[in-house]
Amino acid sequence: MSVNTSKRPLRLGMVGGGQGAYIGNIHRIAARQDGDWQLVAGAFDVDAKRGHAFAADEGLDPSRSYDDYRAMIHGELTRDDKIDAVAICTPNFTHFPISKAFLEAGFDVICEKPLTATLADAVALEQLVRDSDRFMGVTYTYSGYPMVHEARHMVAAGLLGKIRTVQVEYPLEWMATAIETAGNAQAAWRTDPNKNGRGGSIGDIGTHAYHLAGFVSGLILESLTADLATFVEGRALDDNAHVMLRYRGGARGLLWSSQVALGSSNGVRLRVFGEKASLTWFQEQPNELVHAKLNGRTEIIKRGADDLSESAKARTRTPPGHPEGYLEAFANLYAGFAEAIRARSEDREPSVIGRDIPTAYDGLKGVAFVDAVVDSSAASDQPWLTPVAV
Ligand code: NAD
Repeated sequence: MSVNTSKRPLRLGMVGGGQGAYIGNIHRIAARQDGDWQLVAGAFDVDAKRGHAFAADEGLDPSRSYDDYRAMIHGELTRDDKIDAVAICTPNFTHFPISKAFLEAGFDVICEKPLTATLADAVALEQLVRDSDRFMGVTYTYSGYPMVHEARHMVAAGLLGKIRTVQVEYPLEWMATAIETAGNAQAAWRTDPNKNGRGGSIGDIGTHAYHLAGFVSGLILESLTADLATFVEGRALDDNAHVMLRYRGGARGLLWSSQVALGSSNGVRLRVFGEKASLTWFQEQPNELVHAKLNGRTEIIKRGADDLSESAKARTRTPPGHPEGYLEAFANLYAGFAEAIRARSEDREPSVIGRDIPTAYDGLKGVAFVDAVVDSSAASDQPWLTPVAV
Protein backbone atom coordinates (compact mmCIF):
# COMPACT_ATOMS: atom_id res chain seq x y z
CA MET A 1 0.00 0.00 0.00
CA SER A 2 1.57 3.30 -0.99
CA VAL A 3 -0.49 6.35 -0.21
CA ASN A 4 0.40 9.99 0.02
CA THR A 5 -0.07 10.92 3.66
CA SER A 6 1.64 14.28 3.88
CA LYS A 7 -1.35 16.62 3.70
CA ARG A 8 -3.74 15.03 6.15
CA PRO A 9 -3.77 13.40 9.60
CA LEU A 10 -2.94 9.72 9.44
CA ARG A 11 -5.90 7.43 10.04
CA LEU A 12 -5.42 5.22 13.08
CA GLY A 13 -7.19 2.02 14.01
CA MET A 14 -6.90 0.46 17.44
CA VAL A 15 -7.14 -3.09 18.75
CA GLY A 16 -7.78 -3.33 22.50
CA GLY A 17 -7.73 -0.30 24.74
CA GLY A 18 -11.46 -0.34 25.45
CA GLN A 19 -13.44 0.50 28.58
CA GLY A 20 -11.30 0.13 31.72
CA ALA A 21 -8.14 -0.79 29.83
CA TYR A 22 -4.98 1.09 30.71
CA ILE A 23 -2.62 1.82 27.85
CA GLY A 24 -5.13 2.31 25.04
CA ASN A 25 -6.21 5.62 26.54
CA ILE A 26 -2.60 6.81 26.73
CA HIS A 27 -2.21 5.94 23.04
CA ARG A 28 -5.32 7.94 22.16
CA ILE A 29 -4.17 11.00 24.11
CA ALA A 30 -0.68 10.74 22.59
CA ALA A 31 -1.96 10.27 19.05
CA ARG A 32 -4.19 13.36 19.33
CA GLN A 33 -1.59 15.71 20.73
CA ASP A 34 0.09 16.96 17.56
CA GLY A 35 -2.74 16.54 15.08
CA ASP A 36 -0.77 13.86 13.21
CA TRP A 37 -3.34 11.13 13.82
CA GLN A 38 -7.07 10.64 13.85
CA LEU A 39 -8.65 7.58 15.45
CA VAL A 40 -11.21 6.29 12.94
CA ALA A 41 -11.63 2.55 13.54
CA GLY A 42 -11.32 -0.05 16.24
CA ALA A 43 -11.92 -3.48 17.72
CA PHE A 44 -11.53 -2.19 21.23
CA ASP A 45 -12.40 -5.13 23.41
CA VAL A 46 -12.16 -8.91 23.51
CA ASP A 47 -15.92 -8.72 24.12
CA ALA A 48 -17.39 -7.32 20.89
CA LYS A 49 -20.47 -5.83 22.56
CA ARG A 50 -18.38 -3.90 25.04
CA GLY A 51 -16.10 -2.85 22.19
CA HIS A 52 -19.00 -1.40 20.20
CA ALA A 53 -20.32 0.46 23.26
CA PHE A 54 -16.87 1.95 23.76
CA ALA A 55 -16.60 2.95 20.09
CA ALA A 56 -19.96 4.70 20.37
CA ASP A 57 -18.77 6.63 23.43
CA GLU A 58 -15.68 7.67 21.46
CA GLY A 59 -17.95 8.98 18.71
CA LEU A 60 -16.65 6.60 16.06
CA ASP A 61 -18.56 5.89 12.86
CA PRO A 62 -20.45 2.67 13.83
CA SER A 63 -19.48 1.07 10.52
CA ARG A 64 -15.86 1.22 11.65
CA SER A 65 -16.39 -0.41 15.02
CA TYR A 66 -15.57 -4.06 14.43
CA ASP A 67 -16.32 -7.30 16.24
CA ASP A 68 -12.68 -8.32 16.18
CA TYR A 69 -9.38 -7.54 14.50
CA ARG A 70 -10.00 -9.89 11.57
CA ALA A 71 -13.28 -8.13 10.76
CA MET A 72 -11.41 -4.84 11.05
CA ILE A 73 -8.81 -5.86 8.48
CA HIS A 74 -11.52 -7.13 6.16
CA GLY A 75 -13.66 -4.00 6.58
CA GLU A 76 -10.83 -1.51 6.25
CA LEU A 77 -9.44 -3.14 3.11
CA THR A 78 -12.71 -2.42 1.31
CA ARG A 79 -12.54 1.34 1.99
CA ASP A 80 -10.88 4.18 0.05
CA ASP A 81 -10.20 5.92 3.36
CA LYS A 82 -8.73 2.86 5.02
CA ILE A 83 -6.58 3.23 8.13
CA ASP A 84 -2.89 4.03 7.65
CA ALA A 85 -1.80 2.15 10.75
CA VAL A 86 -3.14 0.15 13.66
CA ALA A 87 -2.20 0.49 17.32
CA ILE A 88 -2.17 -2.82 19.18
CA CYS A 89 -2.97 -2.29 22.86
CA THR A 90 -3.83 -5.83 23.93
CA PRO A 91 -2.16 -8.33 26.30
CA ASN A 92 1.21 -9.69 25.15
CA PHE A 93 0.18 -13.08 23.76
CA THR A 94 -2.10 -11.45 21.20
CA HIS A 95 0.55 -9.10 19.77
CA PHE A 96 1.92 -11.68 17.37
CA PRO A 97 -1.24 -12.90 15.61
CA ILE A 98 -2.73 -9.41 15.44
CA SER A 99 0.45 -7.69 14.20
CA LYS A 100 1.11 -10.43 11.69
CA ALA A 101 -2.41 -10.22 10.26
CA PHE A 102 -2.26 -6.43 9.83
CA LEU A 103 1.25 -6.48 8.35
CA GLU A 104 0.31 -9.21 5.89
CA ALA A 105 -2.75 -7.18 4.88
CA GLY A 106 -0.42 -4.26 4.09
CA PHE A 107 -0.97 -2.02 7.11
CA ASP A 108 1.66 -0.30 9.24
CA VAL A 109 1.65 -1.30 12.89
CA ILE A 110 2.30 0.37 16.22
CA CYS A 111 2.57 -2.36 18.84
CA GLU A 112 2.88 -2.39 22.57
CA LYS A 113 5.87 -3.96 24.29
CA PRO A 114 6.95 -6.65 24.83
CA LEU A 115 6.77 -7.27 21.09
CA THR A 116 5.50 -10.84 21.57
CA ALA A 117 5.10 -13.42 24.32
CA THR A 118 7.65 -15.85 22.83
CA LEU A 119 11.04 -15.46 21.21
CA ALA A 120 10.04 -17.56 18.18
CA ASP A 121 7.14 -15.18 17.51
CA ALA A 122 9.38 -12.13 17.89
CA VAL A 123 11.91 -13.53 15.43
CA ALA A 124 9.17 -14.33 12.92
CA LEU A 125 7.49 -10.94 13.28
CA GLU A 126 10.69 -8.96 12.90
CA GLN A 127 11.54 -11.00 9.81
CA LEU A 128 8.09 -10.28 8.40
CA VAL A 129 8.64 -6.54 8.86
CA ARG A 130 12.05 -6.74 7.20
CA ASP A 131 10.67 -8.67 4.24
CA SER A 132 7.88 -6.14 3.71
CA ASP A 133 7.93 -2.40 3.18
CA ARG A 134 5.79 -1.91 6.27
CA PHE A 135 6.63 0.22 9.27
CA MET A 136 6.40 -1.25 12.75
CA GLY A 137 6.91 0.93 15.83
CA VAL A 138 7.09 -0.45 19.35
CA THR A 139 6.09 1.83 22.22
CA TYR A 140 9.12 1.89 24.46
CA THR A 141 7.75 4.92 26.24
CA TYR A 142 10.90 6.15 27.94
CA SER A 143 12.69 6.77 24.66
CA GLY A 144 10.13 9.49 23.97
CA TYR A 145 11.44 11.86 26.66
CA PRO A 146 13.49 14.85 25.48
CA MET A 147 16.03 14.54 28.31
CA VAL A 148 16.56 10.87 27.47
CA HIS A 149 17.39 11.99 23.93
CA GLU A 150 19.71 14.61 25.37
CA ALA A 151 21.46 11.93 27.42
CA ARG A 152 21.83 9.74 24.35
CA HIS A 153 23.25 12.70 22.43
CA MET A 154 25.75 13.52 25.20
CA VAL A 155 27.01 9.94 25.38
CA ALA A 156 27.34 9.75 21.58
CA ALA A 157 29.18 13.09 21.56
CA GLY A 158 31.77 11.62 23.93
CA LEU A 159 31.00 13.91 26.89
CA LEU A 160 31.13 10.95 29.29
CA GLY A 161 34.18 9.36 27.73
CA LYS A 162 34.26 5.60 27.51
CA ILE A 163 31.29 4.11 29.35
CA ARG A 164 32.20 1.93 32.32
CA THR A 165 28.91 0.96 33.89
CA VAL A 166 25.16 1.43 33.47
CA GLN A 167 22.71 1.10 36.36
CA VAL A 168 19.07 0.96 35.43
CA GLU A 169 16.01 0.16 37.50
CA TYR A 170 12.26 -0.02 37.09
CA PRO A 171 10.54 -0.62 40.43
CA LEU A 172 6.77 -0.68 40.80
CA GLU A 173 4.63 -1.45 43.83
CA TRP A 174 1.15 -2.25 42.49
CA MET A 175 1.58 -6.05 42.50
CA ALA A 176 3.01 -6.31 46.03
CA THR A 177 0.03 -8.49 47.03
CA ALA A 178 -1.82 -11.22 45.11
CA ILE A 179 -4.18 -8.81 43.37
CA GLU A 180 -4.38 -11.21 40.42
CA THR A 181 -6.55 -13.49 42.56
CA ALA A 182 -8.64 -10.63 43.88
CA GLY A 183 -10.25 -9.54 40.62
CA ASN A 184 -7.57 -7.31 39.08
CA ALA A 185 -7.78 -8.26 35.39
CA GLN A 186 -4.56 -6.46 34.42
CA ALA A 187 -2.57 -8.35 37.05
CA ALA A 188 -4.33 -11.62 36.11
CA TRP A 189 -3.02 -11.78 32.54
CA ARG A 190 0.38 -10.39 33.60
CA THR A 191 0.91 -13.34 35.97
CA ASP A 192 -0.27 -15.99 33.49
CA PRO A 193 2.73 -17.35 31.53
CA ASN A 194 0.48 -18.24 28.59
CA LYS A 195 -0.69 -14.66 28.25
CA ASN A 196 2.26 -12.63 29.49
CA GLY A 197 5.19 -14.73 28.28
CA ARG A 198 7.98 -16.32 30.32
CA GLY A 199 9.17 -13.21 32.10
CA GLY A 200 7.01 -11.57 34.79
CA SER A 201 8.44 -8.28 35.99
CA ILE A 202 11.33 -8.71 33.57
CA GLY A 203 9.00 -8.95 30.57
CA ASP A 204 6.55 -6.31 31.72
CA ILE A 205 8.93 -3.57 32.85
CA GLY A 206 12.46 -5.01 32.67
CA THR A 207 12.13 -4.71 28.89
CA HIS A 208 11.60 -0.95 29.27
CA ALA A 209 14.70 -0.68 31.45
CA TYR A 210 16.79 -2.75 29.07
CA HIS A 211 15.76 -0.65 26.09
CA LEU A 212 16.38 2.60 27.95
CA ALA A 213 19.88 1.55 29.03
CA GLY A 214 20.88 0.55 25.50
CA PHE A 215 19.21 3.57 23.91
CA VAL A 216 21.14 6.08 26.01
CA SER A 217 24.47 4.30 26.40
CA GLY A 218 24.68 2.99 22.85
CA LEU A 219 26.12 -0.19 24.35
CA ILE A 220 25.43 -3.59 22.85
CA LEU A 221 24.75 -6.48 25.20
CA GLU A 222 27.18 -9.37 25.07
CA SER A 223 25.97 -11.62 27.89
CA LEU A 224 24.06 -11.61 31.15
CA THR A 225 23.43 -13.52 34.33
CA ALA A 226 20.17 -13.21 36.20
CA ASP A 227 18.39 -13.96 39.44
CA LEU A 228 14.60 -13.96 39.29
CA ALA A 229 12.44 -14.15 42.39
CA THR A 230 8.76 -14.51 43.10
CA PHE A 231 7.87 -12.94 46.41
CA VAL A 232 4.09 -13.14 46.27
CA GLU A 233 3.05 -16.65 47.17
CA GLY A 234 1.38 -18.66 44.43
CA ARG A 235 2.42 -16.30 41.64
CA ALA A 236 3.51 -18.18 38.52
CA LEU A 237 6.03 -15.63 37.23
CA ASP A 238 8.84 -13.54 38.69
CA ASP A 239 7.91 -10.31 40.40
CA ASN A 240 11.48 -9.20 41.01
CA ALA A 241 14.56 -9.48 38.80
CA HIS A 242 18.23 -8.69 39.23
CA VAL A 243 20.34 -8.93 36.10
CA MET A 244 24.07 -8.39 35.66
CA LEU A 245 25.03 -7.29 32.16
CA ARG A 246 28.25 -7.46 30.21
CA TYR A 247 28.41 -5.18 27.23
CA ARG A 248 30.64 -5.37 24.18
CA GLY A 249 33.86 -3.47 24.83
CA GLY A 250 33.97 -4.26 28.54
CA ALA A 251 31.30 -2.04 30.09
CA ARG A 252 29.18 -3.59 32.85
CA GLY A 253 25.54 -3.08 33.78
CA LEU A 254 23.06 -3.83 36.51
CA LEU A 255 19.31 -3.97 35.89
CA TRP A 256 16.58 -4.27 38.50
CA SER A 257 12.89 -4.64 37.77
CA SER A 258 10.32 -5.18 40.49
CA GLN A 259 6.55 -5.23 40.79
CA VAL A 260 6.69 -5.48 44.58
CA ALA A 261 8.83 -2.45 45.49
CA LEU A 262 6.70 -0.60 48.03
CA GLY A 263 7.00 3.15 47.74
CA SER A 264 7.90 3.06 44.04
CA SER A 265 5.13 4.34 41.83
CA ASN A 266 6.98 4.45 38.53
CA GLY A 267 10.57 4.88 39.57
CA VAL A 268 12.41 4.35 36.30
CA ARG A 269 15.98 5.49 36.94
CA LEU A 270 19.02 5.37 34.69
CA ARG A 271 22.61 6.14 35.62
CA VAL A 272 25.42 5.97 33.09
CA PHE A 273 29.01 6.28 34.33
CA GLY A 274 31.88 7.02 31.97
CA GLU A 275 35.57 7.88 32.37
CA LYS A 276 34.87 11.63 32.27
CA ALA A 277 31.37 12.08 33.69
CA SER A 278 28.09 10.45 34.64
CA LEU A 279 24.45 11.11 33.80
CA THR A 280 21.38 10.42 35.91
CA TRP A 281 17.76 10.51 34.69
CA PHE A 282 14.74 9.74 36.86
CA GLN A 283 11.33 9.49 35.24
CA GLU A 284 9.50 11.00 38.21
CA GLN A 285 11.53 14.20 37.53
CA PRO A 286 11.83 13.78 33.77
CA ASN A 287 12.58 17.40 32.91
CA GLU A 288 16.06 17.23 34.44
CA LEU A 289 19.25 15.42 33.65
CA VAL A 290 22.09 15.40 36.20
CA HIS A 291 25.55 15.66 34.69
CA ALA A 292 28.41 15.02 37.17
CA LYS A 293 31.93 15.63 35.92
CA LEU A 294 35.34 14.29 36.86
CA ASN A 295 36.36 17.61 38.43
CA GLY A 296 33.54 17.37 40.98
CA ARG A 297 31.28 19.88 39.27
CA THR A 298 27.69 18.74 38.87
CA GLU A 299 25.13 20.49 36.68
CA ILE A 300 21.42 20.00 36.31
CA ILE A 301 20.47 20.26 32.66
CA LYS A 302 16.88 21.36 32.21
CA ARG A 303 14.51 20.54 29.41
CA GLY A 304 14.07 23.61 27.27
CA ALA A 305 17.62 24.95 27.79
CA ASP A 306 18.89 26.84 24.72
CA ASP A 307 21.84 24.65 23.92
CA LEU A 308 20.23 21.21 23.93
CA SER A 309 20.55 18.82 21.01
CA GLU A 310 18.21 19.03 18.02
CA SER A 311 16.86 15.66 19.06
CA ALA A 312 15.83 16.92 22.53
CA LYS A 313 14.48 20.22 21.15
CA ALA A 314 12.31 18.45 18.59
CA ARG A 315 10.63 16.61 21.46
CA THR A 316 10.00 19.68 23.60
CA ARG A 317 6.69 21.51 23.53
CA THR A 318 6.71 24.14 26.29
CA PRO A 319 9.33 26.50 27.75
CA PRO A 320 11.40 25.37 30.77
CA GLY A 321 9.51 25.44 34.05
CA HIS A 322 6.26 24.14 32.59
CA PRO A 323 6.49 20.43 33.36
CA GLU A 324 6.24 17.92 30.55
CA GLY A 325 6.09 14.23 31.22
CA TYR A 326 4.70 10.85 30.34
CA LEU A 327 1.92 11.93 27.99
CA GLU A 328 4.23 14.20 26.01
CA ALA A 329 6.86 11.45 25.81
CA PHE A 330 4.23 9.10 24.43
CA ALA A 331 3.09 11.79 22.00
CA ASN A 332 6.70 12.14 20.83
CA LEU A 333 6.66 8.47 19.89
CA TYR A 334 3.46 8.98 17.91
CA ALA A 335 4.91 12.07 16.21
CA GLY A 336 7.98 10.01 15.34
CA PHE A 337 5.94 7.13 13.96
CA ALA A 338 3.88 9.55 11.83
CA GLU A 339 7.03 11.16 10.46
CA ALA A 340 8.59 7.77 9.66
CA ILE A 341 5.46 6.70 7.78
CA ARG A 342 5.19 9.99 5.88
CA ALA A 343 8.89 10.00 5.00
CA ARG A 344 8.54 6.53 3.54
CA SER A 345 5.49 7.48 1.49
CA GLU A 346 7.34 10.56 0.17
CA ASP A 347 10.55 8.62 -0.42
CA ARG A 348 12.72 10.87 1.75
CA GLU A 349 14.73 10.65 4.96
CA PRO A 350 12.70 11.34 8.13
CA SER A 351 13.26 14.61 9.97
CA VAL A 352 14.75 14.52 13.46
CA ILE A 353 11.49 13.56 15.23
CA GLY A 354 11.23 10.46 13.05
CA ARG A 355 14.75 9.28 13.84
CA ASP A 356 15.89 7.15 16.78
CA ILE A 357 12.42 5.73 17.28
CA PRO A 358 11.77 2.22 18.64
CA THR A 359 11.02 -0.34 15.95
CA ALA A 360 10.39 -4.07 15.55
CA TYR A 361 14.10 -4.78 15.88
CA ASP A 362 14.15 -3.10 19.30
CA GLY A 363 11.11 -5.20 20.18
CA LEU A 364 12.90 -8.38 19.14
CA LYS A 365 15.95 -7.44 21.20
CA GLY A 366 13.68 -6.96 24.22
CA VAL A 367 12.07 -10.38 23.89
CA ALA A 368 15.48 -12.02 23.35
CA PHE A 369 16.69 -10.29 26.51
CA VAL A 370 13.76 -11.66 28.54
CA ASP A 371 14.35 -15.14 27.20
CA ALA A 372 18.03 -15.07 28.15
CA VAL A 373 17.20 -13.72 31.62
CA VAL A 374 14.69 -16.51 32.32
CA ASP A 375 17.10 -19.18 31.03
CA SER A 376 19.98 -17.77 33.04
CA SER A 377 18.01 -17.67 36.25
CA ALA A 378 16.76 -21.22 35.73
CA ALA A 379 20.21 -22.62 34.95
CA SER A 380 21.35 -24.98 37.68
CA ASP A 381 25.05 -24.27 37.03
CA GLN A 382 24.74 -20.57 37.88
CA PRO A 383 27.75 -19.79 40.07
CA TRP A 384 26.42 -18.90 43.52
CA LEU A 385 29.18 -19.01 46.14
CA THR A 386 28.89 -18.64 49.88
CA PRO A 387 31.69 -16.52 51.38
CA VAL A 388 33.80 -18.34 53.97
CA ALA A 389 32.51 -15.95 56.63
CA VAL A 390 28.86 -14.95 56.43
P1 NAD B 1 -5.46 -4.09 29.89
O1 NAD B 1 -5.77 -5.42 30.46
O2 NAD B 1 -5.75 -2.87 30.70
O3 NAD B 1 -6.22 -3.89 28.50
C1 NAD B 1 -6.23 -4.87 27.49
C2 NAD B 1 -7.34 -4.56 26.50
O4 NAD B 1 -7.20 -5.43 25.38
C3 NAD B 1 -8.74 -4.76 27.04
O5 NAD B 1 -9.56 -3.71 26.54
C4 NAD B 1 -9.19 -6.08 26.40
O6 NAD B 1 -10.59 -6.22 26.24
C5 NAD B 1 -8.50 -5.96 25.06
N1 NAD B 1 -8.30 -7.21 24.34
C6 NAD B 1 -7.74 -8.36 24.78
N2 NAD B 1 -7.67 -9.26 23.78
C7 NAD B 1 -8.21 -8.65 22.69
C8 NAD B 1 -8.44 -9.04 21.36
N3 NAD B 1 -8.09 -10.23 20.92
N4 NAD B 1 -9.02 -8.14 20.51
C9 NAD B 1 -9.38 -6.93 20.94
N5 NAD B 1 -9.18 -6.50 22.19
C10 NAD B 1 -8.60 -7.35 23.04
O7 NAD B 1 -3.93 -4.14 29.48
P2 NAD B 1 -2.88 -2.93 29.51
O8 NAD B 1 -2.33 -2.75 30.87
O9 NAD B 1 -3.46 -1.74 28.82
O10 NAD B 1 -1.70 -3.59 28.63
C11 NAD B 1 -1.88 -3.81 27.25
C12 NAD B 1 -0.49 -3.88 26.60
O11 NAD B 1 0.18 -2.65 26.80
C13 NAD B 1 0.43 -4.95 27.17
O12 NAD B 1 1.17 -5.54 26.13
C14 NAD B 1 1.33 -4.20 28.12
O13 NAD B 1 2.60 -4.80 28.28
C15 NAD B 1 1.44 -2.86 27.41
N6 NAD B 1 1.72 -1.72 28.29
C16 NAD B 1 2.67 -0.82 27.91
C17 NAD B 1 2.94 0.29 28.68
C18 NAD B 1 3.97 1.29 28.20
O14 NAD B 1 4.45 2.09 28.98
N7 NAD B 1 4.32 1.30 26.94
C19 NAD B 1 2.25 0.49 29.88
C20 NAD B 1 1.27 -0.43 30.25
C21 NAD B 1 0.99 -1.53 29.45
